[in-house]
Amino acid sequence: MIRAGVLIDGVSGTSRRNVMITILGNKITEVSDGGAATPANIPAGAQFIDLSQYTVLPGLIDAHTHIFLQGEDPAQGGYDIQLLKFPLAFRAARATVSVRRALEQGFTTLRDVETEGAGYGDVGIKMAIEGGYIPGPRLFVATRAISTTGGYSLDNYAPEVEVPKGAEIVDGPVEARKAAREQLDHGADWIKVYMTHRSWIGKSGELVSQPTLTVEELRAIVDETHGWGKKVACHAYGGEGMQRALDGGCDSIEHGLVLTDAQIAQMIRQGTWLCPTLSVYHTDWAPADTPDGMRDRKRASEHEQSFRKALKAGVKIAFGTDMGGIPWTEPIAQEFPRMVEFGMTPMQAIQSATSRAAELLEMKGRLGVIAPGAYADVVAVAGDPLSDVRILENVGFVMKDGKVFKNDLALKR
Ligand SMILES: [Zn+2]
Repeated sequence: MIRAGVLIDGVSGTSRRNVMITILGNKITEVSDGGAATPANIPAGAQFIDLSQYTVLPGLIDAHTHIFLQGEDPAQGGYDIQLLKFPLAFRAARATVSVRRALEQGFTTLRDVETEGAGYGDVGIKMAIEGGYIPGPRLFVATRAISTTGGYSLDNYAPEVEVPKGAEIVDGPVEARKAAREQLDHGADWIKVYMTHRSWIGKSGELVSQPTLTVEELRAIVDETHGWGKKVACHAYGGEGMQRALDGGCDSIEHGLVLTDAQIAQMIRQGTWLCPTLSVYHTDWAPADTPDGMRDRKRASEHEQSFRKALKAGVKIAFGTDMGGIPWTEPIAQEFPRMVEFGMTPMQAIQSATSRAAELLEMKGRLGVIAPGAYADVVAVAGDPLSDVRILENVGFVMKDGKVFKNDLALKR
């Protein structure tokens, strides 16, 4: 049993004071008023965790990560070195650190949206976590991802040199469907598709993104994936690639830097999710007076406008960071203040990383909520995250599946 000083349950619009959470095995069985602040009414043999001085929340969910990437720092060889020089075992070893880092920060579930050339490594890491060999969050994995010829890194090598690609390359609806079948067969929980690749500043100062798959190619993937009862996440910045992603029936738009009003209306009509990943576009800008630097600034300003419009219109928004693009040494929760800065209330931001993200994962009522029947994924922080969401960078208590992984709060008392 856990006594919560304050409970933010992931669904309700307001917090509750003095709440008792009963856990049996890996599930929450009861959430009730705490009554007198003594453990006198605890059944004999039950473990009692006193978080009466803290704010308790459901385990957090990051719906856009890359456990097989490590920040792509150019000084450390950038993206390319991952595929060209690092043995898979090295990358897998580092991925075990990534998942541990996520769990330590209270992220008990990740949707990891492709391994960047590490094949089906995410399926292996997921097996190791589920088998209890390494600590880590629940993983929903996308395996290799899909793009087209000219539609994914590694880029800019001599045409005579054959280099590996970070995603599975397809051309035509037949190959597209086959790739989806292969990935689903080998354990993909989601299929990830890159609908745009390069981006630059166009002739009228607008952000242009190179489209990749055709609508027919994407439809083949979506049709196949939906047949397996799974869903498709589309990386899309804007323009033609974004339009094809929506017309092709994708389930979640990743990033969504440039969304027109018509596209926002189409997302609402089709029930498409937006996983914005704001923070990652606000770091590592190239110098202002360079083409890349101008592009980086344009991306960030367009993204803010799109996010604000989508939020106002009522598009379903799930918390995502692109960790891995950001080094795993940085706080995952840095996305919360960015979402609040761009118009969300702290409660909306928290729900985007709890009940809303659970809905995206089709785990409504089982993840992202403190309620009977949900998995016992529970975190706690000192202070009130509704008055300052940055507090969520300091999660001091983490329980996953009814097992305490970290409890720094008790030590501090
Ligand atoms: Zn990503």
